[in-house]
Amino acid sequence: MPDELLERLRRFHDQTFPGAQAQFHALVEQGQHPGTLFIGCSDSRLVPYLLTGTGPGDLFMIRNVAAFVPPHDLSAGFHGTAAAIEYAVLQLQVQRIIVCGHSHCGGIRALYFGGPAGALNLARWLELGREAVLPVQPTPEALRRTEQRAVVLQLERLMGYPMVREAVDAGRLTLHGWHYVIEDGEVHVFDVRQGGFVPASRAEHAGTGPYAPFDPADGGTPLFNEIDAAYQGAC
Ligand SMILES: [Zn+2]
Repeated sequence: MPDELLERLRRFHDQTFPGAQAQFHALVEQGQHPGTLFIGCSDSRLVPYLLTGTGPGDLFMIRNVAAFVPPHDLSAGFHGTAAAIEYAVLQLQVQRIIVCGHSHCGGIRALYFGGPAGALNLARWLELGREAVLPVQPTPEALRRTEQRAVVLQLERLMGYPMVREAVDAGRLTLHGWHYVIEDGEVHVFDVRQGGFVPASRAEHAGTGPYAPFDPADGGTPLFNEIDAAYQGAC
């Protein structure tokens, strides 16, 4: 019986890699300098490189169930997602962080219907989206709204990372909330000024709207107020 996976590895090395060899060599010699941290759901139908037209060296990537962001809290123990966020911001100094949820998300669905028996880590992980759950019947519309609310929730939690907050306030980093509708092939971007998610075809920007540099002269923290207002508007 042929080993299909092994065949694919050989095909990559023999046929694909030669065409990209110079690019990979340059990325080795000069190191990686991705401008974007992409936090996406693990769902196999979400393909960040296709969505964004990017390739090797462009995206520093975190994939996990439902594209969640854990709190910046060392007491939570080992955390790959938190570690990767710190590395991306402090070491790679990315200029953008995208949080990308999507339609028909199994993780969001599990917030209403539960996950598989015995998945104890998954059950705990899903708590990171609990605040996004709506007190209604989980209709397709409610699930979609929950998927979008969950994205905004993760953006808020990202701002709890001191290095993220500092970079955003200094104008070195922008945060982008995306919801990818698989069946339409279109990303809806979170736009705080329009009070919700806007299809990319009608959006004015890729989601950088609310994250203007923090101006102490304004007093307080308008960023959170704006997001909270839009969060209500989005739902
Ligand atoms: Zn998902």
